[in-house]
Amino acid sequence: MDLKGKRVLVVGLGKSGVASALFLKAQGAQVTVSDTKSGDELRNEIPVLLDHGITVETGGHGDRTFRGQDLIVVSPGVPVDAPPLVQARALGEAVIGEVELAAQFLHGPIVAITGSNGKTTTTTLTGEIMTAGGFPTLVGGNIGTPAISLAERAQPETVIVLEVSSFQLETIRTFRPKVAVVLNVTPDHLDRHRTFEVYVDAKARIFENQRSGKNPEDGDFAVLNADDPTCASMASRTRAQVYWFSRQKEVQQGAWVRDGNILFRDAKGQHREIMQVSEIPLKGAHNLENVLAAVCAGTLMGCAPEKIRQAVHDFKAVEHRLEFVATIGGVDYYNDSKATNVDATIKALESFPANIHLILGGKDKGSDYSVLNDLLRQRVKRVYTIGAAATKIESQIVASKSGGPEVVHAETLENAIRKANSVAKPGDVVLLAPACASFDQFRNYEHRGQMFKEIVKALTTGKS
Ligand code: ADP
Repeated sequence: MDLKGKRVLVVGLGKSGVASALFLKAQGAQVTVSDTKSGDELRNEIPVLLDHGITVETGGHGDRTFRGQDLIVVSPGVPVDAPPLVQARALGEAVIGEVELAAQFLHGPIVAITGSNGKTTTTTLTGEIMTAGGFPTLVGGNIGTPAISLAERAQPETVIVLEVSSFQLETIRTFRPKVAVVLNVTPDHLDRHRTFEVYVDAKARIFENQRSGKNPEDGDFAVLNADDPTCASMASRTRAQVYWFSRQKEVQQGAWVRDGNILFRDAKGQHREIMQVSEIPLKGAHNLENVLAAVCAGTLMGCAPEKIRQAVHDFKAVEHRLEFVATIGGVDYYNDSKATNVDATIKALESFPANIHLILGGKDKGSDYSVLNDLLRQRVKRVYTIGAAATKIESQIVASKSGGPEVVHAETLENAIRKANSVAKPGDVVLLAPACASFDQFRNYEHRGQMFKEIVKALTTGKS
C-alpha cells in the first residue's frame, strides 16, 4: 500500500485512531482526523497531531469531510453503518479499520485471538509462550499497543500476537492470521451488533482470508473451542486446518485434558504431554480453556512443550481479571471488573464453590440477567446492585423468597463493598463481577477495578 500523497481520513480519535493518523502521516499521506467529541474532551490527543501537520476536526464531522478521500480508516468505536461511512462507501471510497491498515504493513506471521471473553488473558499468555519459545514476538491489538504501532517495530520474522474484537473484524479486507483462535461466542455487545447472528458473523471474519495450503505446513490454522456449540459450528467457515481445544472431551486434533494432564495431538495423530492442570496458576475453569487455546497456538507456531509449560507456570492473572486483592478478617476480595457481560460473571461465580457476596451492575448492554439465577441460588449469599442497570437486574434475578440470595440495592460501589464487609463471615468471598459496562459511574472498567481495590485496601488499613 503506497500512501505517499494520498488523502486519508481517520475517523475516531481513540488510541488506535491517533496511532493510525501518526503512522499514515509518517508514510507521507495527507491526513485529516475527525471525531464527534469536542476539542476540550480531546485536549490530550490533539497537540501531537497538530505538531505532525495533521488536520484535526472535532465536535462532529463536516459535510465535506468524507468526500474525496482516497482512504478512510475508522476506529472500532465508530459503527460501520454510520451514515457518512455508508455514503463514502457508496461513492467508492475505501473504508477500513486500523487492524486492516496494520495487516498491510505487518509481514510476519500473525496469531489472532478473538472471542467474547478471555481474549486479553489468552493473548498475553500466547505472547509469553512465543517469547519463551525463543521467537521474536510483539503483542498488541485490542490490548495495550494498537496493531498499527507494531508495524513500525516488526521485522519480517517477528511473530505478531493480536487480540482482535468483533468491531475490528468488521472492517478488515486482507487481514490473514496464520493462526486464528476463537475462544467462545456468547451474547455480548448486542446493543451495537443488534442480533447474535450479526455478532457471530463479525467474529467469523477472522477466517475470511485464511488459506488451506498445498502442504499442511504451508496452510493456516483455526483453533476452536469444542465445548462451545456456536464456536464449534464455525469450523465450516474456514479453509484453514481446524484444531480443537476442550476441557471436557478428547479431541481429534488439538489440546485436551486427560487425568489432570494437558495433552496435544497433531495432524498425524501423535500426542504429547504438555503439563499438568494443577500447575496452572490461574483460578477458574475458564482459565483452563484459555490455557488450552494458548497451548494450541503455541504448539502450532512451533514452540517446544517444555517452553510452553514454563510460560504457563510463570503466568500471572492480568489485572482486573479475577484478580485477588486482599483477605480481610478471613474474607477474600476479588476484582473481576472486566466481567462486563453475564457470561464472564457466570465464569467468575463458577470459580468459587459458595458463600459469595456478588456486586452486580453498571451500564446495561441489553443483557438477560436471569441466566445467572441457577448460580445465584447455589453459590451466592447476597447480591449488591449498583449503577444504572440495578433496577433491571433486580427485576430479572431470582428473589430470596424463591430460593435466591438476598438483594441489597447499594447504588454505589463503595456502599456495596462496605455493606458486604459489614456482614461477610470468614471463608466468604466478596466478588466484583458486575456483568455490565462501567461507563455510567466510571471512566472505564480499569477505573472501576482500581476504585474497588482502593476501597478494599482502605478497609485493610482502617483508613476508611
Ligand atoms: P476479553 O479481552 O475478551 O474481555 P479478558 O481476558 O480480559 O477477556 O477477560 C474478560 C472477563 O472474562 C474477565 O472477567 C475474565 O475473568 C473472564 N474470562 C476470561 N477468560 C474467559 C473465558 N475463556 N470464558 C469466559 N470468561 C472468561
